[in-house]
Amino acid sequence: MNRIFNFCAGPAALPTAVLERAGAELADWHGKGMSIMEMSHRSKEFVGVAEKAEQDLRDLMLIPDNYKVLFMQGGASSQFAMVPMNLLRGKSTADYINTGQWSSKAIKEAKSFCTVNVVASTEGNNFTSAPSQAELKLNPDAAYVHYTPNETIGGVEFDYIPDTGDVPLVADYSSSILSEKIDVSKFGLIYAGAQKNIGPAGLCVVIVREDLLGDVVAGTPTMFDYKVAADNASMYNTPPTYSWYLAGLVFAWLKEQGGVEGMAEINKRKADRLYSFIDANDFYANPVAKNNRSRMNVPFTLADDALDTVFLEESEQAGLMNLAGYRSVGGMRASIYNAVPEEGVDALIAFMADFAKRHG
Ligand code: PMP
Repeated sequence: MNRIFNFCAGPAALPTAVLERAGAELADWHGKGMSIMEMSHRSKEFVGVAEKAEQDLRDLMLIPDNYKVLFMQGGASSQFAMVPMNLLRGKSTADYINTGQWSSKAIKEAKSFCTVNVVASTEGNNFTSAPSQAELKLNPDAAYVHYTPNETIGGVEFDYIPDTGDVPLVADYSSSILSEKIDVSKFGLIYAGAQKNIGPAGLCVVIVREDLLGDVVAGTPTMFDYKVAADNASMYNTPPTYSWYLAGLVFAWLKEQGGVEGMAEINKRKADRLYSFIDANDFYANPVAKNNRSRMNVPFTLADDALDTVFLEESEQAGLMNLAGYRSVGGMRASIYNAVPEEGVDALIAFMADFAKRHG
């Protein structure tokens, strides 16, 4: 097997051990003579897989008992609508923090359902920082406060969890869930598309405080009602069984790696090493405020963007894949999620040093 180092922002690298296990049990799951994806979602086998995945996620994130864990479909983008549909609960405004392209999309979608107050925006500095707590102009009457702890495109990460008092805090954790320990009790709702730190695309994990369920906007489709999902153990309809199973394998793998705390240490080492290298080398630059640099997505530019194509060609030849920046942004971006090993980051740095020497 020839596994390259994959720096894709999503769908992203999955742990090789997980893929090998999924491969080994693909056609014959645990001696049942069929694949897990051929089984009824109501079978005791699949229900066992589903329940273990949830329990492992609860263990990893220390999710309190008064939170429901939902395995939903439609990616993280569907949550941009589901959040207001479920959490407005009779109110007409919601607060949003704008730190980049993903929070902007969430804001745009929410505007169909309520008055959106953008309580802080870093658009003025081209989304290269996150606002401080003091800069948030929060409204006590807001139904909730939404933010994006890690902006995948800009590589901007909050270095604190906003304090929103009694107003529920909602976080799009798509690109940094499970990368470090977080206190779930500080949130009303957390959602995360799976295709970075969880598993295959399409699946979206939602972690929601129970008391926020059950008062949806009129006309909310049944499938978008968190309470319906919660009351039916995320099986109101046929869930994405194979993605759920694979997420479960990733959670089990994470536990073997020392859980979220073990991962956090490795992630910090990876990010520190890459940013230190970029800062020390005049050929490369990262524009993000130092305290807001993402540990998961590291955008960088070359001193001469005419060399971008050559950089991408040569890095691919070196087995370092998917380093192109977001389509509308350009430059480079190395996404170094949980499944990207430290050796991958070391190999990238060695390549970048050599490239700069030859072209700088
Ligand atoms: N939010 C964030 C922070 C993301 O990074 C992404 C995907 N890259 C999304 C939302 C959208 O996710 P999906 O494509 O699963 O809808």
